Amino acid sequence: MRSIVTGGAGFIGSHLIDRLVARGDEVLVLDNLSSGKAEFLAHHTSQVTHIDVDITDFEAMSPHFKGVDVVYHFAANPDIRLGTQITDTDLKQGTLATYNVVESMRIHNVPTIMFASSSVVYGENAPMPTPENHGPCMPISLYGASKSAGESLVSSWVGTFGLQGYIFRFANIIGDRGTHGVIFDFIHKLKRNPSELEVLGDGRQEKSYMEVGDCVDAILHVMETESEPLNLFNLGSHDTCSVRRIAEIVVEETGYTDAAIVYTGGSRGWAGDIPRAMLGIDKMLATGFNVKYNSEDAVRHTARVLIEEIGLEN
Ligand code: NAD
Repeated sequence: MRSIVTGGAGFIGSHLIDRLVARGDEVLVLDNLSSGKAEFLAHHTSQVTHIDVDITDFEAMSPHFKGVDVVYHFAANPDIRLGTQITDTDLKQGTLATYNVVESMRIHNVPTIMFASSSVVYGENAPMPTPENHGPCMPISLYGASKSAGESLVSSWVGTFGLQGYIFRFANIIGDRGTHGVIFDFIHKLKRNPSELEVLGDGRQEKSYMEVGDCVDAILHVMETESEPLNLFNLGSHDTCSVRRIAEIVVEETGYTDAAIVYTGGSRGWAGDIPRAMLGIDKMLATGFNVKYNSEDAVRHTARVLIEEIGLEN
């Protein structure tokens, strides 16, 4: 199998590549290293080729799709907060980049796409746990809008040009090689100032967390077991963890147990943040896949591995 992984030098994409290589795939990574790291791929040799290309550049990226069997599309701006300052990043790196991907697939007859979407497409006030058939989906962040648009592009290329699509709405994915997100931020804050941990919001924000190994195993399991033209799945764990609990766990794991946890107040971490989110995972479970970690275990495991990766010494 010859695969393209856009964003393959990133956190989730690089873990998926480990699995693809283990099963014998030949992998072409399209990644401009804007938030990914070449070192996440450094342990691979002949089966993985990294092309340093910006997927918003259609002329440069499109020729690489020739002769490919499946595309795993992860490349995107990973920072939801950025949309509060720069309003066209998600449009370009999300919506337009996804157009470039599906259009390149059409031109080069690549049959199958996996698209990395997010729980944020559901917007606010969705029932918890949120099932895949909840609607209408009204995202409240620019990042969420780009994921919703990306889903529509995949679905319309499936309907019009006969592509097969797998859309995965991820919970918060955490684990080793993480380069952003709440646990990563807390470790860096404590490293800078071991006596205080500032938490955005009131700490009562509550979301479900999925360990990255569980996430990539779920992706491959669903792609092996399901074969509809368009396959839509939430990927998450069985429960949630509050930001307050995450702060306590990170403080415990760093050993900076005298650190004062200080809350900035308000129900949201930032404009566009969704304070409470939990995905319904019955559809995923019905395929025969189950997660190894619940949310709190995934948080503690991630705190440990990221402290190891980041190091607490200045
Ligand atoms: P990441 O930042 O580690 O990975 C994104 C990768 O895409 C990086 O390697 C980056 O260099 C690359 N990239 C970005 N823009 C590019 C461009 N224009 N051209 C080429 N390469 C580009 O982020 P991640 O956490 O691994 O997320 C992967 C995907 O999963 C993203 O689409 C993200 O929106 C989605 N997602 C992640 C989470 C999560 O909790 N991490 C949750 C929901 C959805």
